[in-house]
Amino acid sequence: MEKSCKNVYITTPIYYVNDVAHIGHAYTTIIADMLARYSRLTGSKTYFLTGTDEHGQKIAHSAEARGKTPKEYADEVSGKFKKLWDDFDITYDKFIRTTDQEHKNGVQKAFETMYKKGDIYKGDYEGFYCVSCETFFTQKQLIDEQFCPDCGKPTNIVKEESYFFKLSEYEDKLLKWYEENEDCILPRSKKNEIVNFVKSGLRDLSISRTSFDWGVKLPESMNEPKHVMYVWLDALMNYITALGYGKDDINMEEFWPAKVHLVGKDILRFHAIYWPAFLMSLNLPLPKHIAAHGWWTRDGEKMSKSKGNVVNPKEIADAYGLDSFRYFMLREVPFGQDGDFSQKALLDRINSDLGNDLGNLLNRISGMSGKYFDFKIDSKDVIKYHKKELDEVYAILDNVESYIFNMQINRFLEDIWKVLTVANKAIGDYEPWAKMKDGKEDEAMALVALITNIMAKVALLLDSVMPEKISKIASSLGISIDTITYNKLIVNKELVNKTTITKVEQLFPRIEEVLLKQSIPSQVSKDQAENKSSKKPEKEEDDNLITIDKFFETTLKIGTIVEAEEVPKSKKLLKLQVDLAEGRNRQVLAGIKEFYSAEELVGTQACVVANLKPAKLMGMISEGMLLAAKDENGLSLIRPETKKTIGTKIS
Ligand SMILES: [Zn+2]
Repeated sequence: MEKSCKNVYITTPIYYVNDVAHIGHAYTTIIADMLARYSRLTGSKTYFLTGTDEHGQKIAHSAEARGKTPKEYADEVSGKFKKLWDDFDITYDKFIRTTDQEHKNGVQKAFETMYKKGDIYKGDYEGFYCVSCETFFTQKQLIDEQFCPDCGKPTNIVKEESYFFKLSEYEDKLLKWYEENEDCILPRSKKNEIVNFVKSGLRDLSISRTSFDWGVKLPESMNEPKHVMYVWLDALMNYITALGYGKDDINMEEFWPAKVHLVGKDILRFHAIYWPAFLMSLNLPLPKHIAAHGWWTRDGEKMSKSKGNVVNPKEIADAYGLDSFRYFMLREVPFGQDGDFSQKALLDRINSDLGNDLGNLLNRISGMSGKYFDFKIDSKDVIKYHKKELDEVYAILDNVESYIFNMQINRFLEDIWKVLTVANKAIGDYEPWAKMKDGKEDEAMALVALITNIMAKVALLLDSVMPEKISKIASSLGISIDTITYNKLIVNKELVNKTTITKVEQLFPRIEEVLLKQSIPSQVSKDQAENKSSKKPEKEEDDNLITIDKFFETTLKIGTIVEAEEVPKSKKLLKLQVDLAEGRNRQVLAGIKEFYSAEELVGTQACVVANLKPAKLMGMISEGMLLAAKDENGLSLIRPETKKTIGTKIS
């Protein structure tokens, strides 16, 4: 694998503060974060930018409706985005806001430069204006000659004095750029749409407004106090003002042009047409890639507030784990295509890919090394006995890096899973437990060392995808995740000579259905839940003892019973509402009516099996189980001796 040395600049779009963060924002930001982490690990100097877009008439209206100034409103929403990215451990280097003074100075400098070059002129604009989309349309573009083609709201005829950018003069230059740079717009199918659009003819672009004032003023030298800049001119410039454009050029030289601008497909046109034209006008180099991703649907349906099926990314990450959520998003959908979020798909990824293929392999390393070699690993005979497997692994790994900046992250992950398959298969093929019985200890060691080395390489490659889990794998294997180790194990294809394995908790415990606040109950059938791809148990593990990991597959928590009532027509069941500090109570149906009355249970605590698959009893859902012991004297619930904080884990 070749080492890339060039500096890398990665951006998300700046998010418009008229919206709360949804799964689409999280998706873009997670992809960017993955690219940034990966590129840092390979030793490239990296700069990762995200932020918020805060100007425009729509923001002014939203603020007014809430009785706030536009700045107060923007502060509030921008703060929420920043908090979410901080909660998600997003490794941005800068969070830019278009209300930052430095940004505004940079935008004015750009306007001045384009004006001096003769690319900006003053004229009159008359058109059909959609306030909601902040876009002018021609009559031909309207639906029923009245409604906005993008959002369907009525448009107004607006005539105003405006400055224009000579976009029409950049038609040929843009077409030439598209032609000479095959991957400048990704995926390529989207590029064709853009090329066709430009070929159909570009009109000059109105870039100032006089009908509202919540925006960046034109530069003072223009002496046009009524005009503010068109939001898209203001917003797009963030990619260079963040690097100091208009101030000093230190970061500009270091990081411009961008390696990749990540965008949603709805804003590709602005990024793939206006933005390169502005840059050409400013005599700046053009970005390497503008990459547009698709939408997420939920259970096959478009998400919308009115349907109540919007996926809240924080809720998903809290329920399933941030790293699992990251893996799911990056693996599930080929970049550029629309993806579907469903609980079933997410559970399949977690239980099968992460639990069985990855997590289980680590357990096997720990189990075998502990049982046979006191956790000590020595790689001296790996090449002697396993050259074939190593060659297989390297043949796959040689290609994986090329997928990353072509935005084929799903293929990158698919290939890493092929490597895990090599490892899992080798254990079955060589049966280290049989080697041990036959006294071939060095062969068994070579196998365990092979698996350990494969896991170490995989850990380095997956660090950008699941940083928290990978740091646990790395510490279990006794390796560091850093550029030196990356170069050694991935670039130079070396092995970890000697290491000591440390046992870790189960990394990806099996998850059954979790009931989400806005959840549409998903139909996970028993067969699917039982998991088609579970591995056969190893012969050596065939006894009645379980490992601690196995025990911790059950999540036990302290809960307080806040409500209890009898289930009519049932001799045994009580219907309980149990608080496990999850933000909502769980309904638990317990067969304890003969031993406890509903009244005496309210306010008491119990030990609850919290990760039990929900079941239906007498037509009602039960989302947990209480621990109890029953003998000839009756049944008693198992409870903490003294009151414990609700939600405390039992271990
Ligand atoms: Zn509209």
